[in-house]
Amino acid sequence: MKNLRTQLFIDNQWVDSVAGDCFETVDPSNETVIAKVSRARSEDVDLAAKAASRAMQGPWPRLPPVERGTILFKLADLIDGNSRNLAKLETIDVGKPLSDSLGDIAGVSDTIRYNAGAADKLEGATIPIGPDHFDFSVMEPIGVTGHIMPWNYPLGMAARSVAPALAAGCSVILKPAEQSPLSTLAFAELCEEAGFPSGVVNVVPGFGNEAGAALTSHPLVRGISFTGSVATGRAVYQSAAVGLKKVVLELGGKNPMIVFPDADLDQAASDAVVGAYANSGQVCSASSLLFVHEDIREDFLVRFTDMSKKLTIGGGMDDRDLGPLASSEQYDRVRSFLDGASDQGVRVLFGGDRPSHMDRGYFIEPTLIECSDLGQPIARQEVFGPVAVVIAFAEQETVVEMINDLDYGLVAGIYTRDISRALRLVSEIDAGTIWINGWYIGGAQVPTGGNKASGIGRERGLPGIANYLELKNVGIRI
Ligand code: ADP
Repeated sequence: MKNLRTQLFIDNQWVDSVAGDCFETVDPSNETVIAKVSRARSEDVDLAAKAASRAMQGPWPRLPPVERGTILFKLADLIDGNSRNLAKLETIDVGKPLSDSLGDIAGVSDTIRYNAGAADKLEGATIPIGPDHFDFSVMEPIGVTGHIMPWNYPLGMAARSVAPALAAGCSVILKPAEQSPLSTLAFAELCEEAGFPSGVVNVVPGFGNEAGAALTSHPLVRGISFTGSVATGRAVYQSAAVGLKKVVLELGGKNPMIVFPDADLDQAASDAVVGAYANSGQVCSASSLLFVHEDIREDFLVRFTDMSKKLTIGGGMDDRDLGPLASSEQYDRVRSFLDGASDQGVRVLFGGDRPSHMDRGYFIEPTLIECSDLGQPIARQEVFGPVAVVIAFAEQETVVEMINDLDYGLVAGIYTRDISRALRLVSEIDAGTIWINGWYIGGAQVPTGGNKASGIGRERGLPGIANYLELKNVGIRI
């Protein structure tokens, strides 16, 4: 891997944007500019879409699938070989602690390997319709796909949508978030080295209303994968609907963890701390809403508070437990939630401010707020910062009602030693993922996605590859 890449990557070439201008990306630990990156607009996305479309006429979708897998396996090896550099880029661009970034990058190569191994297993079926006919289906790549990514796990999210698209034989146009383009550009360089044919992987950093909107409306783009906020997800869905594109949306969450009196409280509290504060809470599946039974409220809170108070905060490269928020906009957003909360009469049990010893960088301390129910907006809305809400409950039925009343339906966690109770709750709770006695359970093999405002479709696992395949049926009279 050579120097920092800051140009667009289109048709296996590094190019400036047509307009020739750039945007700045900032280190959130110290608020300094790291680099100026070429700013893709609609004319650049058009060039990328044409290159990606030519790639679909070329060798890529016609390669023996095992050869597509081989190139993906090579990419995974290159990622492992460059993991420190990729992790550093992630850390300076997003602020996350270096060890967390290294973990993310290990997840990227896992994801690519999972999909590489699946590339030659995407089978159709033979369908019996009687002795006079032979009917079968084949799975074909949908074509050019656009991938619009968030800033909280730049390469992690990119891998989980781009790797299955490539395994399926699609070509891709990847737009990283404007806050965090650097690791995705380094990824493009490794794709070049791995040997993808021209136009198969294209990277167009830029802003949402420019490069992003150009992707969702481009007639050559057949599928869109989007991860980000609900409001933007709606705009993406509307724009993609005009072109009748296939769409996967991974949106937000306000994820309840229910802790019953018979739970292992040490485990529940430590999972709740990691779930709420890892990546400074900028995780769609964060454990941001803790429903704790009133009989164990005190015991749980003592544990949760002790563990939270031990968390250290610092710049990403200092590798403490928590880094800063990823951008000044996100810092302002979280601050406005916290300022609004104090007007709503909630109890701030700890935190709520920037750490007193840090005057630069977008830092906020781990925060716990107690609410009585979902009446206060902070209890219902996704904060996307190190802010957890706790609500004590008496009746299981009331908790289920409150959870199903949330706009979101991404993840719910159940902590109890009574597995029958947990399994009954699985069918009662409206969410795409349920975790029992553990948080952040999963991996490249496990499908993930949300119900209600949390999204449409699933990523990862085999359903994640199906997003990029279309079934063609063939009927023969014999
Ligand atoms: P946030 O508000 O936290 O920055 P967004 O959901 O707006 O999150 O952004 C996620 C991704 O969506 C980013 O890559 C951003 O550039 C992109 N984006 C923003 N607006 C649009 C849009 N109108 N069309 C397509 N992509 C967009």
